[in-house]
Formats: sequence, C-alpha cells, structure tokens
Amino acid sequence: MADDLALAIFSVRPYDRYVVGELLKSFPKAKVLDAPLNVNTAMLAQDCTAINVFVNDDLSAEVLDLLAGYGVKCITLRCAGFDRVDIVRAHELGITVLRVPAYSPYAVAEHAIALMMALNRQVVKAHSRVLQGNFDLSGLVGFDMHGKTVGVVGTGKIGQCAAAILRGFGCEVLVYDVFENQEVKDMGCVYVSLDELLARSSIISLHCPLLPSTRHIINPESIAKMKRGAMVINVSRGGLIDTKAVLDGLKSRQIGSLGMDVYENEAGVFFIDQSTMSDDQPGASIPEGYDTMLGSLMAHPNVLVTPHMAFLTQDAIEKIASVTVENLKEFINGGPCGNKVLPPK
Ligand code: NAD
Repeated sequence: MADDLALAIFSVRPYDRYVVGELLKSFPKAKVLDAPLNVNTAMLAQDCTAINVFVNDDLSAEVLDLLAGYGVKCITLRCAGFDRVDIVRAHELGITVLRVPAYSPYAVAEHAIALMMALNRQVVKAHSRVLQGNFDLSGLVGFDMHGKTVGVVGTGKIGQCAAAILRGFGCEVLVYDVFENQEVKDMGCVYVSLDELLARSSIISLHCPLLPSTRHIINPESIAKMKRGAMVINVSRGGLIDTKAVLDGLKSRQIGSLGMDVYENEAGVFFIDQSTMSDDQPGASIPEGYDTMLGSLMAHPNVLVTPHMAFLTQDAIEKIASVTVENLKEFINGGPCGNKVLPPK
C-alpha cells in the first residue's frame, strides 16, 4: 500500500520542494531529510523499505550493505545517471534500483549549448565589465557557430538533442558513439572515430555516461589529439575529464576554453552553499574542504563552471516527480519496473 510505504528522501534542497510535495501526496509517511546519504547517515533509513536519493549520494557497496541491514529493498534515484551506485552489489543484496532515465534531454542539451554560447561570446566577462562601467569591446571577439565543426561524444537522448540544436545553428556535426543512432545520421551528422572527432572539432561536447570505458576519456593523450584551442563542454559526468590534464591543456592553450556543469570531485562540494564557510572559522583564509583544483579551474579566465544544474528546468522537475512516484508504485505493486537498473552482463 502506497499510504504505508516507509520511505526516506535524502539530500532534499529547496528546489526539490515540488518533487517532495508530489512524493508526500502518494507516500504520506515519507521522511524528508536534508542529509546526503553516506556511511554516516545510512542509519536514517532504518526500518524504511525504500529510499529516494540524488546524484551525489553515496551508494557504494559499504553503504548498500548498511541499507540492506536496515531493511531497505528499493532505491529510487531522482536522476538518470547511476554511476555512484554499485549495481552489482545492489543486485546481490536483492535491492531494486530504479531511475528516471529521460526527464528532459532537452534541458541538459540546452544547458550545454548555453555554456558553449556564453564562452564563445564571452557573456560573463562582458556582463561583469558592463557592471563596472566598462563598455570597451577589447578581448570580447567570438566566432560564428554557423559553419563550425562540433564534435558530440555520445549520441543517446541528450547527445541527439544537442546535435539537433547544433545542426540548427548550421554547424557541421561529427559524432562518436559505440552504437550508431540512425536519427542522428538522418540529421546529417557524421559518425567518425574518436580520434578524428578530436582532431577536427572546434568544440567537443561530452554526452556519454561515466563508465569504466569512458572515465577520463579526456586525458593527456586525447587532449594532444585535439585541434589547438578547442572548446570542451562537459554536462555529463565529471569523471569523463582528467581535471589535472585539462588544467595543463588550458595553460598551454591546447584547450581554448572549458564549460563544465560537472566536476570529478563534486560530491560534498556541489549542491552546498559554501559561500559563508570561512566565516564559521575565524582566521581561516581557506575554508575547510576547499578544493584547490576546482579553485584553479574557476580562476581561469576561459573556464565557466555551473553547479550541476543542466537538468534544472521546471519541465524536468515535474517529470522527475511523476516518474519517481510511478517507479515506487510499480515497486510496491510488484509489477515489472521499466526503469530498473540492471547489473552489466
Ligand atoms: P543515453 O543512455 O541516452 O545515451 C548515452 C550514450 O552514450 C549512448 O548512446 C551510449 O551508447 C553512449 N556511450 C556509451 N559508452 C560510450 C563510449 N565509450 N563512447 C562513446 N559513447 C558511449 O543517456 P543520456 O540520457 O543521453 O545521458 C547521458 C549522460 O548525461 C548521463 O549518463 C548522465 O551522466 C548525464 N546527465 C547529466 C545531467 C546534468 O544535470 N548535468 C542530467 C542528466 C544526465
């Protein structure tokens, strides 16, 4: 019975109000927690049958073992990516993992394009200059998107949307994936090897999931193969990029600019207001937990960082809510769960 479901909702932030509201309508006994899920907080799921978590919650084998001990049988993700879930261990423990596979590929693809355009046309630099009364145009030269070659890595739901927008700009779109998508080909995009995509693209946009095969797909070797001065966009998962290598690439100008909505060490940093952290520690010039690599990236003039917000449109939030409610109802009814994450074969 949905009314009785013992559910714990982790990592709740103000923008989750709509999703939590919808969950509470169907599962009124749900516990709403702002704590992230990790080894120290797993005990909050004691006696819960199901939990609901977000993108940076820790679902490693250690945490899953604790959850199983507390009686958790189902984990629902308020996101598509499941790279922080040890799916094999969940399967061994008999825990069902359900996700929201496609809440809005448009939201994420459009954010990739927003980063691209903001970097290309120097929107942030221009705005901060204007705020200071500086209306000079020096150093603000961009380029036409029309006619430029853009490489899209991963042509699933989001990559396909990004490719469609780029074709609309009049870009030549080179694509790389382990599977070819006919609809992407029909748009006039051309599948090439990753090396050819790297060598020919003025902009490279990453849209593949984080898997062992894609971890650090952007590394010293792949950066050396890029067209000099290429722009790199990552709205997918931070682990796709070897951050140190990208910093070196930016310093040597092999990489011209970087737009990132995700960062490989973002857990514990993103989704948290860190702006007042140093105020809590009088005398500390650098707040505890300050990430110097992220600091170096943010200080770079050609880097634009957003805090894992590519998904954050009202349309996507509404879809996340409705699919999560349906996922939990399917689990309760013991029916086939279409959005179940299965271990790799
Ligand atoms: P999808 O499953 O529809 O597409 C992923 C594509 O990547 C598939 O076509 C797959 O074949 C391809 N792929 C797999 N391994 C590859 C490899 N080694 N090289 C190249 N391509 C490979 O997924 P999607 O809905 O398009 O989402 C893509 C990713 O975007 C998610 O995995 C998630 O990590 C990320 N994402 C980020 C946000 C955000 O807010 N920043 C939101 C949603 C999703």
